[in-house]
Amino acid sequence: MILGVESSCDETALALFDPAAGLCGEWVHSQIALHQPYGGVVPDLASREHLRHFAPLLRVAAGACDLRTVTQIAVTRGPGLAACLAMGVSVAKALALEWGVPVVGGKHLRGHAWSPFINLHAECPAHFDERIDALLPHLGLLVSGGNTILLQIDKARRISVLASTLDDAAGEALDKGAKLLGLGYPGGPLIEKHASTGRADAFAFPRGNNSRGTLDFSYSGLKTSLRYTLEKLTGAEVHARLDDLCASFQAAVVESLARKTGHALDAGAFRSVGLSGGVANNRALRAAIAEVGRRRSAPVFAAEPRHTGDNAAMIAFAAWMGRARAGGIDPLARAHRCGRRRRRSSIRRMLPGAQFETRR
Ligand code: ADP
Ligand code: MG
Repeated sequence: MILGVESSCDETALALFDPAAGLCGEWVHSQIALHQPYGGVVPDLASREHLRHFAPLLRVAAGACDLRTVTQIAVTRGPGLAACLAMGVSVAKALALEWGVPVVGGKHLRGHAWSPFINLHAECPAHFDERIDALLPHLGLLVSGGNTILLQIDKARRISVLASTLDDAAGEALDKGAKLLGLGYPGGPLIEKHASTGRADAFAFPRGNNSRGTLDFSYSGLKTSLRYTLEKLTGAEVHARLDDLCASFQAAVVESLARKTGHALDAGAFRSVGLSGGVANNRALRAAIAEVGRRRSAPVFAAEPRHTGDNAAMIAFAAWMGRARAGGIDPLARAHRCGRRRRRSSIRRMLPGAQFETRR
């Protein structure tokens, strides 16, 4: 059983993943309401909130599942807000010391990359390995607040980046667009809500095709275009046409993502397509990528909505997918070795913090 720990930004999350049975439980505390008044995540508030919520989440997890079955801990080690990551890593190391199990640090983006396959595993854990092998090489579209990436997972399960954004990420563009439109934070879901009753062809926004003809994305022009459009409208007009503005803006983001995904599929010999990250929550994007795959007879796997944002299930799952590579090379593995030595004395006598960082 793998305990996943995630705290890279504004969600405190734990999950228990059993390779033989799938996810046994997931627990998340979201900080969205805390940061909403500021229009974005405040790092200092975020790290304190993680500190406050890990212990209660652990108690809930312990009430629902037997934590004595945990044999490994997987924790997000980056990228993310430094003080927030430190909270999760400290919790993971402390538990590893207490339980005498190894801890492995994983990259948040690897979690997103594998997240579309969590459900495939849940359908039939016993046959997962042969089913996933038949779906590689895989093309993944990872769209979050900080990243817009086309990635490849090759037959050896190695992940490589094929394309990324030259400036803003897709989620960032939606968040900035929402701010210009006077909507709140996070912007993506609010734009989607208004877009559902608007006309996508009401305004002509650029599709972010960069002149070099690469697969890379670009969204800064789209944001500027929205600003110029808004400057030409009165406040009353913006209010009256808000749904059309949102629908047109969202369509520009979705179409550029879908088009580049299609180009990447045409250029490679991919056997499946994946969609992950917070923006993958967007129904228009899910439909567009499903259509891209359908046209090319490539099966599409979209991460479950609860696995699109920050979550610990994908961290535990990715640690299991990368098990062949994990070995003892991860610096966090030191916590385990250190823990085994210290267990002979009483771990409870140890001062928290300083002694956890003991190096040898
Ligand atoms: P990161 O970890 O890089 O901050 P997340 O994976 O947590 O990003 O995703 C957050 C992003 O997803 C935000 O930019 C948010 O606006 C966007 N998002 C969330 N839900 C939707 C939605 N339904 N439609 C479009 N964008 C969305
Ligand atoms: Mg994320």
